Amino acid sequence: MKSRRDFLQKITLSAMAFPFAHHLQGSSLSKNITVGANREEVLRVAIMGLGSYGTRVAEAMQDSTRSKLVGVISGTPSKIKDWQGKYGIPEKNCYNYENFDQIKDNPDIDAVYIITPNSLHKDQAIRVANAGKHVICEKPMALNEKEGREMVQACKKNNVKLLVGYRMRLEPNTLEIVRMREEDELGKIMFFQGLSGFRIGDPNQWRLDKDLAGGGAMMDIGIYSVNGARYMVGEDPIWVTAQETKTDPEKFKEGVDETIQFQFGFPSGAVASCLSTYNMSHLDRFFLNGQKGFAELQPATGYGPIKGRTHKGPLEKPHVTHQTVQMDEMSDMILKGKEPKLPLDGVEGTKDLIIIDAIYKAVASGRKEKIDVTF
Ligand code: NAD
Repeated sequence: MKSRRDFLQKITLSAMAFPFAHHLQGSSLSKNITVGANREEVLRVAIMGLGSYGTRVAEAMQDSTRSKLVGVISGTPSKIKDWQGKYGIPEKNCYNYENFDQIKDNPDIDAVYIITPNSLHKDQAIRVANAGKHVICEKPMALNEKEGREMVQACKKNNVKLLVGYRMRLEPNTLEIVRMREEDELGKIMFFQGLSGFRIGDPNQWRLDKDLAGGGAMMDIGIYSVNGARYMVGEDPIWVTAQETKTDPEKFKEGVDETIQFQFGFPSGAVASCLSTYNMSHLDRFFLNGQKGFAELQPATGYGPIKGRTHKGPLEKPHVTHQTVQMDEMSDMILKGKEPKLPLDGVEGTKDLIIIDAIYKAVASGRKEKIDVTF
């Protein structure tokens, strides 16, 4: 019988022979081999905000071959202890919200992934950038255009990347529709419909607190239709009209939108009709209509599997955990300068905020508002 030592020697030799051992996907062993053979390949990430989505990202990173969870930033010592145990995070890579600027002196962390409530993103991202670390930030990247631009500037000044957790921009079925559109299989694009919503529960959560969320459904889920309209149509909107409906002003207080319908016009003449809501279930659908065909996704933005079809038949790209793909791809963007097919950087994040600012303006004015996402 072969001994463990023989086995390890063999692995070490094969790692030397095949330094890019990506075929060993998923095992922590493969990650160690890649780290040893070519450290530059693996992005070492600290997660800030150990809540529900942070936990999902951490789990998905266990299967990432090009990124590794190495640190945490949290205000809750007991959560830090749990994560240290679960993911083998050393004490020197643990920070809280007061002291995380010290991360600048930690050569073992390349990037910080911010997964906290929306209104905290801007200041946290700027602090991370000033500490000289790359920033990955959850959507919405910030609360408005002004904040978005400040973040882009801070990252530019510190020569670090700013990426937004727009996982759908890396999703294979979504990218297949983009390919079909670009290769004119759908013909001239005429119309997009985006439906984004769910029924929100606990009235006391931060998502329903204007100070932490920066708004309501639009900031949280409506943004998927805003972002989706742009990558499905392949253009940025130039005008918007919008209407708000509120059936429960007790739960959805002033400044927290329950339901907004909005319509876009694009430079080509294409139009879009979208719905953002915190008060309807089963709403996750994109529909794109062109003169030669159509494409639809339902679910369009959930954690998957994403399902879709076009006038040519069903879309059948395999499901891969979105957050694993995202972290692998972001590693290549940060460490190797890879350009994704659909950009997901701070400029893209800010463009969505410019559009959301215009949606809120159109709700308030009742008029058609111009949008200019020029950067
Ligand atoms: P959550 O409430 O589960 O987690 C938020 C975390 O932030 C918690 O650990 C909380 O302790 C911490 N936190 C730090 N300071 C806080 C403060 N002042 N008030 C409240 N909490 C504070 O929320 P979540 O669902 O993980 O969402 C976090 C971010 O991730 C949001 O910006 C959200 O839009 C985004 N998100 C993105 C996706 C996606 O698919 N890309 C999915 C879910 C959430």
